[in-house]
Amino acid sequence: MPKMRAVQVSSPDGPLEIVEREIPAPGPGTVRIKVAACGICHSDSYIKSGHFPGVQLPRVPGHEVAGTIDAVGAGVNRWTPGQRVGVGWNGGYCGYCNACRRGNVFACQTSTQITGATFDGGYADYMIAPVTALAAVPEGLSDVEVAPLMCAGVTTFNCLRNSGAVPGDLVAVLGLGGLGHLGVQFAAKMGFNTVGIARGKDKAPLAKKLGAGHYIDSQELDPAAELQRMGGAKVILSTVTNGDAMRAALGGVGVNGTFMVIGVAPSLEVSPGELLNGRRSVKGWYSGVSIDSEDTLAFSALAGVRSMNEVFPLERVAEAYERMLSGKAKFRVVLTMEQ
Ligand SMILES: [Zn+2]
Ligand SMILES: [Zn+2]
Repeated sequence: MPKMRAVQVSSPDGPLEIVEREIPAPGPGTVRIKVAACGICHSDSYIKSGHFPGVQLPRVPGHEVAGTIDAVGAGVNRWTPGQRVGVGWNGGYCGYCNACRRGNVFACQTSTQITGATFDGGYADYMIAPVTALAAVPEGLSDVEVAPLMCAGVTTFNCLRNSGAVPGDLVAVLGLGGLGHLGVQFAAKMGFNTVGIARGKDKAPLAKKLGAGHYIDSQELDPAAELQRMGGAKVILSTVTNGDAMRAALGGVGVNGTFMVIGVAPSLEVSPGELLNGRRSVKGWYSGVSIDSEDTLAFSALAGVRSMNEVFPLERVAEAYERMLSGKAKFRVVLTMEQ
């Protein structure tokens, strides 16, 4: 039997082990992907710790997958060997439950699959994916470019395009890290009057380079007051994981505006008065499903949006994972499978 390399977690908080496994065969309704690149996302830490609900170890993490279909299972239409595809966090849906039938496939009630959590993901030479998890890759994007767009990309792109903002609206992106550096690019390319908010003067050139028209140093200035001075934000895209930092910007939401939450913080304090007086909203956003990822890739290819990445070969996965955890990576960490 031909073998492949895979990186698995076999015990809670255990190491990322590089092991040899048999190359799996695709079952009905699935394809086998020869993985070329896979991003390392902070959410992978929930799998590594064993804390993710329902995760069974050993598990191969990885939900920012880019590669090429090399075999298809029974009953698979449309997708064929040789096609380039990406796979993200949403690992598919049933199409039959009430949530799916109402068009909310992201909330599928009967076959909630999470790539690299409920089935093996992309830290490997090959993986098996349900067809409902596949996004077609357009020309003009390399595998390394595709990988981070499958989670950080779709999360920010799909949130912004569903935020209610229209071209010309004031849109602020809170945080300029892995999510935020993509959020600013998408916001600018969507034609929003884009504001980057982060800590420290030194991030101003980065915000401008990414396409922001304005930058607010939240250590020097009150971001809420600054946004109100500019007329109030139609949308604030909150990518940070700190409730106090979120609170400091939330007051910058304008009348009928929305504070869109895509970063997980333990809690967030909101004043009901400021919500109802300005008809303001605080809303969470689920990243998206495979067609949203496909749209993200197409838009990125069209508009020139690219993640900034630090790239490591699969053999250096432990080092790459630590780099992601350190929070110092500029800005996403991506594994490549070539030997
Ligand atoms: Zn992720
Ligand atoms: Zn369903």
